[in-house]
Order: sequence, then structure tokens, then C-alpha cells
Amino acid sequence: VNEADTPIAEFLKGQINIATEYRGEIRPSDFEEYKSKEGFSALEKCLKDLSPNQIIDEIEKSGLKGRGGAGFPSAIKWRMVNKVQSDKKYIICNGDEGDPGAFMDRMLLESYPFRIIEGIIIAAYAVGATEGRLYIRAEYPLAVERIREGIKICREKGILGQNILGSGFSFDMEIFEGAGAFVCGEETALIASIEGKRGIPQLRPPYPAEKGLWNQPTLINNTETFSLVPWILRNGSDKFCEIGTEKSKGTKVFALAGKINRGGLIEVPMGISIRQIVEEIGGGVAGGKKFKAVQIGGPSGGCIPASMADTCIDFDSLKEVGAMMGSGGLIVLDESDCMVDIAHYFLSFTQEESCGRCTFCRIGTRRMLEILNKIKTGKGKLEDLDLLEKLAINTKKGSICGLGQTAPNPVLSTLKYFRHEYEAHINGTCPSGKCESLIKYE
Ligand code: SF4
Repeated sequence: VNEADTPIAEFLKGQINIATEYRGEIRPSDFEEYKSKEGFSALEKCLKDLSPNQIIDEIEKSGLKGRGGAGFPSAIKWRMVNKVQSDKKYIICNGDEGDPGAFMDRMLLESYPFRIIEGIIIAAYAVGATEGRLYIRAEYPLAVERIREGIKICREKGILGQNILGSGFSFDMEIFEGAGAFVCGEETALIASIEGKRGIPQLRPPYPAEKGLWNQPTLINNTETFSLVPWILRNGSDKFCEIGTEKSKGTKVFALAGKINRGGLIEVPMGISIRQIVEEIGGGVAGGKKFKAVQIGGPSGGCIPASMADTCIDFDSLKEVGAMMGSGGLIVLDESDCMVDIAHYFLSFTQEESCGRCTFCRIGTRRMLEILNKIKTGKGKLEDLDLLEKLAINTKKGSICGLGQTAPNPVLSTLKYFRHEYEAHINGTCPSGKCESLIKYE
């Protein structure tokens, strides 16, 4: 068998491994193996040769944007924390992954614990933080175990603790296990949760960069963002900029799932098309069925129809078509999926996870869900679609955090691209046959 033709080779072809560098070549908890593959060389370089400002300049030149969902330029956050004068600063790695169908953080934490730790220490040095927290869902016991082991080994090797590698810089971190509330992925709710309070988002300003954990300046980045940092510092920002598009540099990790022949964790260059991911990396839709759409970005994202599969995966192109990158959920849907049912599924998730602080997020999503229930069971009316749209737009406007601001996206995108399916339900037919009380198109 020619190895290049095997399904695994096809799956890996077209991927670029930065966050997932040396995929399959290093055992997650083997310190020596990680070191033999350039592990901790970026940290050594930073501590020996670069000032904090030079590191932030390099991150700025790389164009790195946060991979947690919103795509905020990392260097702006880093510089804000660096500039604030304070005796105590914190750094938090946000590994509170809760989107249905997503497993990016989980796989990165389980597979590359030393890379994430290295990225966090470099960031800590750049912003002047002396303490860190890794916020990981308690439902990810292997991720917690691997990071715990990684921290222990790093302390033994002088990579964490006092006077790291003889540089005079001291920093240590510990794990905080989250209890699984989706809203705690929002920065201010996550901070409240670490402080032992209820995880409720706060109005900003002040931003965590000024007043974060225990009211001290705090840098928060997502797991994937930190895992890209060592590569950028080791290879230089120019190399990172060679990958991706003009405004979205580097790679993005996705959890490719759903009706796909080859699912799993993938890392692709920004700018790749949805079609390339589904057909070339994923090997097409499973069971020979017809490709219908992708749901990108989990409950915050949107559905993109197969007819628009040439859309590029980058922050701006996805926004233009009414979706968003999100943290990296990518679910492939086929002809047997009902788009009203998909919208209903994601909205029920966010409705349940709403912390209840904002009226629109608390009540608006509930009213939307009631309308979707009516439509799904053939009791909807055409005017319900306008009401649904109006409620969706107002919920986006009237919510203070990302959860409520993005919760209507699956509804809005399906209304935009699959309105005929909503209308069919209102006329008593579910085109895919999924909604049991309704007849199926023949
Ligand atoms: Fe809570 Fe929703 Fe308001 Fe966010 S938008 S603070 S989740 S009620």
C-alpha cells in the first residue's frame, strides 16, 4: 500500500501543525521528548535574549488573534497588562470549553501540555505576571491529569517557580477545575468563578487587563492561543505571517465532527475553504449522503449552506456570511438533517446556559424557543418568522455578554439560508423527515 494514499495521509494532507506540532511524535507527558523537539527553546530564547516589550512586538507582528471566538488581537491585550503598574498580575488560560461538538481545548490539553505551559510562561514574562491559573472543565479528567503532571515536572526542572532557568523571573501556576457552566467561558464570569462567586458576566470596562482576578491586572487567553506562542517566538512572526490570509494569520484548530467520513482534531491554514475541509480532509459526507451545510462556531456561530462551501475560513469571510469562527466547532450536516431542528437544538443549549442577568437573553431566547417549538410541531404561522427574527435581533442587541449576543446566530443563519424549511414546517412538512409529527417531502 502506498502510504500517501491511505485515509490517514489524506486526512493529514492540507493540515499545518503549529498548535499540534509533532502530532503523534511526542508522548504528552514525556518532558525529554518534548525538549528533544525544540520544546522550551522559545522560552529560553525569551528569557535570555528578549525583553517583555520585544516579545509583545513579535506577537503584534505575527498578527495573532485570540482563538477563543472573538478574534481580538492578542498583542493589544498583552500590552495593556504589561503597561499597567501593579505589584501583582495574573495570567489565566481559558480551557473552559463547553460548546456542543467541540473538543479542541480538550485535545490540546491532553496531547500537548508542555506546549501550553510554555506559551503561558512566555506570556507571563511578557506581561509581568507572577501567578497563573489554568481553568479546565472538571469533565476533562485526562486533561486535568496531564496538565497537573506537566506542572509538577516543570517545577522539578526549574521551568516553573522561583528564578526560572536562572533568569531571575519567577512564576507559578495551578489548575482550577470548572464546574461545566458554558457562561464561565466568558472572561469576567470565569474570573468570578475562580474567586468562588457565581459565574455571571460583568459589564466592561473595567477590562480584566486592568482589573481582573482579585482586582489585579489579568491576561486571559484561550488554550489554542497559548499553544501557538512558542512556535511564533521560535520561528519568528514572518514565518507565521506566511500562513493564512491578509487579515487572519496562521492556523486554526477545528473539531471536525458530524456527518463526515474522517472526523477529528484538525489544524488548517486560515483561508482554506469549507469545501476543502469537508471533501479533502474529511473525505466527504458519510454514507454517500448529500452535503447540506456546516454549523461553524458552535452555538455562537451559524449555519453555512453547501452552496457556499467555497467560503474561506477566516475571521472576516465568516462574518460576511453571517457566521463566526467561534472557538472551533465544525459540524457537518447532511440531507437528513432538519435545519429548524438544528436551530432549535443550539438555542435550547444557550437558553439553558444563560445566566439570566439580561432580560433579552433570559426571556428573549425562551420566547424564541417557544416559537421554534410551534414551528417544529406544525403549529407555526408565517408571521412567527418575522417575530422570531425581531426577537433574535433584539436579543443580540440587548445582551451584555457574548453568550446572549451570539445565541440567536444559528436561528438567524438558518432563517437566512433555509427559510424554505421553516415555511415547509409551517405548511405541515419537514423536508428531512426529522420532525416526527410532520410528514416528509417525497
Ligand atoms: Fe447572562 Fe445572557 Fe446576559 Fe450573558 S447575555 S450576562 S449569559 S443573561
